[in-house]
Amino acid sequence: MTTNQHPVTIAIVNGIVWTGEPDKPWATAVALSDDRITAVGSTAEIRLRVSSQTKVIDARGGMVVPGFIDSHVHFLAGGMNLASVQLRDARTPSDFISRIKAFAATAPRGTWITGGDWDHENWGGDLPLRSWIDSITPDNPVWINRLDGHMALANSAAIRAAGVPMSGGDVAGGTITRDASGQPSGIFKDNAQELIDRAVPDPDPAMLDRALDAAMTYANARGVTSVDHMGTWSDLAVFERAHGAGKLRTRIYAAVPLFTWARLRDTVAARGRGDSWLRIGGLKGFVDGSLGSHTAAMMQPFTDAAGDSGLLVNTPENLYLWTSNADKANLHVIVHAIGDRAINLQLGIFERVERENGARDRRFRIEHAQHIAPPDLVRFGQLGVIPSMQPYHAIDDGRWAEKVIGPERARTTYAFRALRDTRGRLAFGSDWPVAPATPLEGIYAAVTRRTLDDKHPGGWIPEQKITVEDALRAYTSGGAYASFEEREKGSLAPGKLADVVIIDRDLTKVAPETIRDAKIDYTIVGGIQMTEMKEH
Ligand SMILES: [Zn+2]
Repeated sequence: MTTNQHPVTIAIVNGIVWTGEPDKPWATAVALSDDRITAVGSTAEIRLRVSSQTKVIDARGGMVVPGFIDSHVHFLAGGMNLASVQLRDARTPSDFISRIKAFAATAPRGTWITGGDWDHENWGGDLPLRSWIDSITPDNPVWINRLDGHMALANSAAIRAAGVPMSGGDVAGGTITRDASGQPSGIFKDNAQELIDRAVPDPDPAMLDRALDAAMTYANARGVTSVDHMGTWSDLAVFERAHGAGKLRTRIYAAVPLFTWARLRDTVAARGRGDSWLRIGGLKGFVDGSLGSHTAAMMQPFTDAAGDSGLLVNTPENLYLWTSNADKANLHVIVHAIGDRAINLQLGIFERVERENGARDRRFRIEHAQHIAPPDLVRFGQLGVIPSMQPYHAIDDGRWAEKVIGPERARTTYAFRALRDTRGRLAFGSDWPVAPATPLEGIYAAVTRRTLDDKHPGGWIPEQKITVEDALRAYTSGGAYASFEEREKGSLAPGKLADVVIIDRDLTKVAPETIRDAKIDYTIVGGIQMTEMKEH
């Protein structure tokens, strides 16, 4: 309890307050003054500070936590997808086809149909073909991605519009799958996706503004108050436009492509790293693809594909040069690595760059860090490399991952517990729209490891489960640390930003398998209440 002259604008009372502060983890009430937390204490203490200007929120025994930080999203893609064809839960090819048919019937002639987020594992693993959808989409180019973004399906109209020849070679770091006659089947993987991507017209600015607005509403409803966005310079322009108009309702740390490090260096030199609503300084690179697309770079071949051990989407030489140059420019290097070979390669680059460039607070990150070779587990803690992971992927991929990597490699897959135990500083996120940006489901996933098909009631690789408090930390203080903002947010303490979420139950007390049934009652960002409690 600290006293402060500022009038209390919001007082949250009668809560189970989990502060995230190691020395004082629990309280029952929180006082906010405008955009800052001014006191954390008992309900009686906080009530003394209530004035006629205070809005009192009765948490009614619900859990009060720091606003969730989703450390890995593609915010505009997510917002765009909210308005596109929804294929994530298509369970059969015929369901997949009929949804596209229904959506195409509403789409103006000639417009591209994108998004989708399909998952062929839902129907046993047969990849979709352009022949499935050509007859129902004659007037619209279709370019719909698998939910991991590492492959996508084009119909014939899209292939024609992009001018992709019906015969010809592959693309470095990518694959064009072909039918028996050698023509593209419609599936383009990793770098081959650029062949179609470049033909897709850019969304107009008004559309992007709407996508951002939809994404913020979606995030607010799920208790997400900050995101680390993995995207492009044009995405950053959309965020800047919204920030300039005072319209941001979600805090954004906007990473741009790693190979553009020189442009970011110059931008930061010219106008700094931004403020608590919109920050820059992070660069996102890629080592490999994804497990679901068999493009994760593995040390040994996939269990279900003899001789295939995935691929690197960038050369080790480029990854080293970009990492080193970005680091010398004091920028923050964030790299996607999923397979054990990719992770090992990037850890080696980080180690080398640190040795060559000297000690500094650099907080290198590996995004996803899914399949870690056992000897590499300790290196995250030793090197101070942040494993930025998405627990929902574990219960999604856990349905089929052992088929692809076998039981032995699965033991150190999504190794939350092993990383935590070796002082790896976990940051959690969703990879939305690859997975729903729903921290409560992420916490459920990390704590139970119950796969989405409910085939592992005791948890898939149960020794890698972590506690609710561990998962909360990864979604709050872990995320704040992963973007250099732990002084501003990530816990409930006087002086920190007034980003607070109220959940309808104490997650540490309920049966773990019911965590995902919990509801977000309130989301407060910068002292502004973004969502109202609905009766339930
Ligand atoms: Zn991603």
